Amino acid sequence: SAQSDKNSKGTLSVVTEAGFAPFSYLDKGELAGFDIELLDAVMKEAGYDYDIQNVGWESMLASVQNGEADLAIAGITINDDRRESYDFSSPYFESTHKIVFREGENITSGEDIQDLKVGVQAGTTGAEAAEKILGANHPNIAKYDANTLAFMSLQSGDVDAVVTDNVVANEYVKNNPDAKVEMIEDPDTFDSEFYGILFPKGSEVTEDVNTALQTLIENGTYAELYDKWFGA
Ligand code: GLN
Repeated sequence: SAQSDKNSKGTLSVVTEAGFAPFSYLDKGELAGFDIELLDAVMKEAGYDYDIQNVGWESMLASVQNGEADLAIAGITINDDRRESYDFSSPYFESTHKIVFREGENITSGEDIQDLKVGVQAGTTGAEAAEKILGANHPNIAKYDANTLAFMSLQSGDVDAVVTDNVVANEYVKNNPDAKVEMIEDPDTFDSEFYGILFPKGSEVTEDVNTALQTLIENGTYAELYDKWFGA
């Protein structure tokens, strides 16, 4: 608590979307993941206490935008659209998109999903990536509230493919050896992007977080976390 640490700058209210393994997810009911551990290290380094709540993607974004939450972390991509309504930390992770599909589909490039049913998480850059291929609001694009629901639809056959962040795709395929799915990346179709911690516009915490992130990069803590979660 704030009282137990007399050096604390106060208690921040943090929101996450724990449907995004290996960045933010629930392990036996407890929040876990690279983002969860990075956040903890950043908060300690920056001198803040924090409370963290797992909410849905849309509520997470809304509560940061209206200032109910002080910040959010959940593999959130930095982009110009969002910069209009939010501030971001410096980038902390590079990402791109992958296509996950049921074994047997002949998919070797982004173009190959043009005539298929594609599942995405609504309001994400994965949804935008799919819309770039099929067309905005194309009827063959099924938008779900969570990435986990898009994967369930792939398993049940409601969609033929899912477009999502590459590392999240890797984790899903690794954790579901019986799902009979494959995945591809296609650098000609999918751009690289960067995750940042999300703040309300004008937040005074952003600078402290950026300073802490920089320290964690310089002192090797970031590399330790990276190796733990993504190392070979
Ligand atoms: N990186 C993607 C985005 O920001 C997805 C993030 C997520 O689903 N948690 O749109």
